[in-house]
Amino acid sequence: KPILPFPTPSDLDALYEVGSELGRGQFGVVRKCNSRVTGEPFACKSISKLHLYMTDGIEVVLREISIMTRISNHAHRPDNQTPQGCNVVILHEVVEDNTFIHLVIDLCNGGELFDQIARKQRYSEAQAAKLMKNLLETLQFCHSLGIMHRDVKPENLLLVDDSDDSSIKLADFGLALEFSPGQKFSDMAGTACYMAPEVLEGEYSEEVDMWSAGIIMYVLLSGMPPFWGDTEEDIFNAIREGQLDLSSGRWLTISPIAIDLISLMLRVDVTSRCTPAQALGHPWFTCLTATRNKLY
Ligand code: ADP
Ligand code: MG
Repeated sequence: KPILPFPTPSDLDALYEVGSELGRGQFGVVRKCNSRVTGEPFACKSISKLHLYMTDGIEVVLREISIMTRISNHAHRPDNQTPQGCNVVILHEVVEDNTFIHLVIDLCNGGELFDQIARKQRYSEAQAAKLMKNLLETLQFCHSLGIMHRDVKPENLLLVDDSDDSSIKLADFGLALEFSPGQKFSDMAGTACYMAPEVLEGEYSEEVDMWSAGIIMYVLLSGMPPFWGDTEEDIFNAIREGQLDLSSGRWLTISPIAIDLISLMLRVDVTSRCTPAQALGHPWFTCLTATRNKLY
C-alpha cells in the first residue's frame, strides 16, 4: 500500500531507463537513469519500503521528500534558471511502486567530494576557495529557507562533472530539519568527525552546518580532519577537548587569512561563529580573487 500521502506515478520503468549504480545509502541504492520522454539523465535514489517499515523510517523519508520539494521549488524557477548559490541536488519527480519509493534527482557525474579528497589528498587555497564558496552559498540559501542540513560532509557533497575543477552540489537531505529562528534541537544527529560540540551537548541550531563546513575547509587544506580517534567516543572526546592545531605541519604553508576564516567557522561559542554570509564576505575569498589565485 502507498506510503506517500500524495499521488505519484507508479511505473519507474515506463518513465525512465534505469542504468548503472552510482552509490549506496542507508535505505537503498542510487542509480543513473534517463528520462524516456526527454532523454535527460538523472540519478534515482530507490528507498526500500520494507526497510522503511522495519526501521520506523517512514517519517524520516517523508521529511526528506518534503524538504527537498521545498528547496527544489525555490531553486527551480519556471524559466529553468537556477538562481546563483543554489548548489543543491534538485528533486525532479517521486515515483512510488509496490516495493520502493524512487526519488529522481539531479545527476552528479563526478561522484563524491570524499573520493576526490582521497585522490588529491590536499587542495590549493584557490581550489579550496572555489569549493567552499559553493558550499557556503548553498548553506546560506538553505538557512534562509529555514532548513538546516545536519550532515554536511564530503560524502554528501557531489561533484557535478568529472573535471578536476568541478563545482559541487549538496545532497542527502535525510537528516535535514526545518527550523524557525532561535529554535533549538537536542537529538544527536550527524557524522562524528563533522559534529559540532553543541550537538554533543544536546542543544543546537543551524550553526552546526557552519561548524561542519569549517571541518571540511580544514580537511581540504591539510588533508586531515582536526578531530580524530579510533572510536566514535574518542572522536567526541577530541571535539569536546577542542584542541585545534592550526600552527604546525601543513599549516605553516597556509595563508594566515585562510587560518583566520577556519577559526571563525570552528568557534565553539555559536554566537561568535560566523554565518554563511559573514564567511562569504571574508577577505580569504576577496583576496584570492584579487591576486588571481597566484599568491598561495
Ligand atoms: P543516504 O541518505 O542513504 O546516505 P545519499 O543520498 O547520500 O543516501 O546517497 C548515497 C550515495 O549515492 C552518495 O553518497 C553518492 O555516492 C550517491 N549519490 C546520491 N545522489 C547522487 C546524485 N544525485 N548523483 C550521483 N550520485 C549520487
Ligand atoms: Mg549520504
